[in-house]
Amino acid sequence: MKVLVIGSGGREHAIAYALSKSPRVSEIHAIPGNPGIAKIGTCHSGSVEDLDGILKFVEDYGIDLTVIGPEVPLCMGLADLLESHGHKVFGPTKQAATLEGSKAFSKDFMKRHHIPTAAYQEVNSYQEAIQALNQFDYPVVVKADGLAAGKGVIICEDEATAKQALKEMMVDGALDGAGSKVVLEEFLTGFECSLLCFTDGETIVPMVSAKDHKQIYDGNKGPNTGGMGTVSPNPFLPEGMDEVFQKDILEPFMAGLKADHMDYRGVVFIGLMIENKQPKVLEFNVRFGDPETQSILLRLDTDLFDIMYAVSTKTLKDVKVKWKDEQVACLVLASAGYPGSYEKGKVITGLDQLDDDMIVFHAGTAVNDKGELVTNGGRVLNICALGQTLEETRQKVYQAATIIDFDGKYYRKDIGLN
Ligand code: ATP
Repeated sequence: MKVLVIGSGGREHAIAYALSKSPRVSEIHAIPGNPGIAKIGTCHSGSVEDLDGILKFVEDYGIDLTVIGPEVPLCMGLADLLESHGHKVFGPTKQAATLEGSKAFSKDFMKRHHIPTAAYQEVNSYQEAIQALNQFDYPVVVKADGLAAGKGVIICEDEATAKQALKEMMVDGALDGAGSKVVLEEFLTGFECSLLCFTDGETIVPMVSAKDHKQIYDGNKGPNTGGMGTVSPNPFLPEGMDEVFQKDILEPFMAGLKADHMDYRGVVFIGLMIENKQPKVLEFNVRFGDPETQSILLRLDTDLFDIMYAVSTKTLKDVKVKWKDEQVACLVLASAGYPGSYEKGKVITGLDQLDDDMIVFHAGTAVNDKGELVTNGGRVLNICALGQTLEETRQKVYQAATIIDFDGKYYRKDIGLN
């Protein structure tokens, strides 16, 4: 079977790597892919937003399954376009992807289907927002409705900060169109975690847990990033949450998909806040998380292609998804300055000196005109290791982090501890 992976990050490399282990997969292609994926498949230039170009590629190459990594092409309707031409896809339709693409849509879905979430109000103008602020205590959470690459949520400690955030989003257009509609939300306290599941709209299968580390500095300090590392399982998750998740979140979620006739075939990534063992949904993402995927898929003990093909053909109930009883750590090596501005083009060395059991996914790399592997993004590489204990996996990834080198290399030292 020929598989096409859409995207270029560490997440897509981890997906391609897991697919490359399948005896059923004969060819892996990626648009645009990255130098890591190029070692296990063929990368083709092109934009993830060029839907017609991707359709033409799928038809020209006789692709059997397309796996869509990022949210933007999902929200643009790539799955719908490919399916309407008879092609198999792992990734939800545009309507279902709106669960991530519009926070107002997502909150309305949760409210109608009794999925626990923070109290909220949708507002469509700055004046309406200022009036609605009276109904909230502080801090209040101001969320731009549309996709804003993680920059659309502001936690406001007082009225002046909230008004400023609303003005920037709704009057000044700071997030382009994404902030013309806003969701005001009650501030929740507790412990944050995410729950990733495979679903074909009929059956939902939770994956093993993973803990991410969003902030740039040790001790969860500094600005948020795309993610600086993960460990799986999540060492901070209280015991006995599986049944609570099933009953409080997954059952009403699946009932909601059915009631709204949503064709959901892919991954749902549910961001949760848990207090006193009671989860509330912060957000739905309609794709794998990055870098959670890197840790989670290394623990998968079932052929990923079998799962993805079953999802695309609505036969997930026939697949038994199994997991390895091992620990995984994933450490992100980043460019100095990230998540602010950073330099690119620094030569990367040491990858060929690692122990054989180390797995390194490429996130922001390129090959320069001299044929050297160089940095090409804020998050550069994801160093991963399996082991029997968290300490063993930490020790392995931190050892490898001293061997791999590039000018400006930065990483957190406390992955799995904080
Ligand atoms: P991401 O960058 O994960 O895609 P996003 O921009 O889609 O995020 P959310 O996940 O809704 O937005 O919010 C981002 C972060 O803001 C959350 O991970 C959480 O830390 C915080 N947050 C969001 N909503 C609330 C809330 N109601 N109460 C407390 N914190 C919140």
